[in-house]
Amino acid sequence: MSMFCYQCQETAKGTGCTVQGVCGKSEKVSNLQDLLIYTLKGVAVVAQKGIEAGLQFPNVNKLMQDGLFMTITNANYDDAVIIEKIKEGLIVREAVKVEVTAKGVALENLHDCALWTADTDEAIQAKANFKGVSVLATENEDVRSLRELIIYGLKGMAAYAEHAYNLGSENEELYAFMTRALAATLDDSLTADELVALTLETGKYGVDAMAMLDAANTGAYGNPEITEVNIGVRSNPGILISGHDLKDMEQLLEQTQGTGVDVYTHGEMLPANYYPAFKQYENFVGNYGNAWWKQKEEFESFNGPILFTTNCIVPPKAEHIERIYTTAGEELGISS
Ligand code: SF4
Repeated sequence: MSMFCYQCQETAKGTGCTVQGVCGKSEKVSNLQDLLIYTLKGVAVVAQKGIEAGLQFPNVNKLMQDGLFMTITNANYDDAVIIEKIKEGLIVREAVKVEVTAKGVALENLHDCALWTADTDEAIQAKANFKGVSVLATENEDVRSLRELIIYGLKGMAAYAEHAYNLGSENEELYAFMTRALAATLDDSLTADELVALTLETGKYGVDAMAMLDAANTGAYGNPEITEVNIGVRSNPGILISGHDLKDMEQLLEQTQGTGVDVYTHGEMLPANYYPAFKQYENFVGNYGNAWWKQKEEFESFNGPILFTTNCIVPPKAEHIERIYTTAGEELGISS
């Protein structure tokens, strides 16, 4: 088994992680993430044919958003969860095929990503380790780079859109673009110029996603203000919260106020200190620690529960894992 990932600035030697991610991502998880993207491409290809025939697929929209988001850097190292999302993708893909065929649209000469299937977790892992699923499956380096640039843009877009979704905001045009663009990354007829144009279009939709999230955040919690953030600690029991999901931040503050439990942000959640709505909570103390990459040391010294709402997480030490929770209310399930 081997891996190849060059999706972020942390990448080994500036060229690609090939043994283990600098971010901590294992070879197993990396290959499963590639297979998830491969599966989403298969969904996109068949869904796009249906969309062009006037159909709509709400379940594809959410699948795309979730699946793309969970493959961004430092977001999800849980192979079991990724396998479940791949299975969901295969089920959705086959259901889309039924609808598209019923509409009279022919599904011919489909790429393997729209055809492959697997009955067991072992078969899924075997498929994930197959080179044809990898980023390197596209041999022409220019085409590969442009395709991957588009996919990384879609991943970032999905992350913004997911956070906005959690605050009740969606954009049908964004969903449609995610499907159309992902399907286009399989289209061998596209020239480099056409892929450059699609890359720029990806940037345009990325800005739209950021604007949607900004409106959702400021609409719910007010405009961020220049704020002096307390970096000291009190003697009460405390919970540390990281990630970017402000809805989760609100819920944690709601559920802890008046209980004698204090709340501190870490790393990615630092900006929550700037929102007027959160300043009203007496038990919101400030920020603990430093940047995300100091998690291992700082989670040890914090010595209390840690809530991860979204990215960026570093694979934690085994002795801390029982103190780290996700917003699904579960202990962190990192199995690789
Ligand atoms: S996401 Fe992880 S594995 Fe991929 S390039 Fe970045 S550091 Fe390497």
